[in-house]
Amino acid sequence: MTVIAIDFDNTLTEDSGNPYKIGGETPNEEMVEYARWLKTEQNEVIIIWTARPWSHAQHIAGLCTMWGVQYNGLMCGKGGADCYIDDKAVNHTNDPDWQEGVTRLSDTYRSRH
Ligand SMILES: [Mg+2]
Repeated sequence: MTVIAIDFDNTLTEDSGNPYKIGGETPNEEMVEYARWLKTEQNEVIIIWTARPWSHAQHIAGLCTMWGVQYNGLMCGKGGADCYIDDKAVNHTNDPDWQEGVTRLSDTYRSRH
């Protein structure tokens, strides 16, 4: 099993309105379904990782429960940036093969451990 961090706003959500205000979030159905599959079929460890403050944690937890997204941890306070340079990142917005990218990174992790 691999630890997979999934961003909340504009990743698990399709639209969050103003992500620094609670309310108005709509699920990204494709990503929600994929997150469910990662957890239930692949037994991955899922961390919901967001730049939102901890005061939003209970709200996010409630949405994930309502959307059927099971997770192992919720981390708030991720450093907010306009660009992340990360060797383990997969960009679901501009890579049509992004799910293969997750599989590749998971396979790489498994081969090393
Ligand atoms: Mg985001």
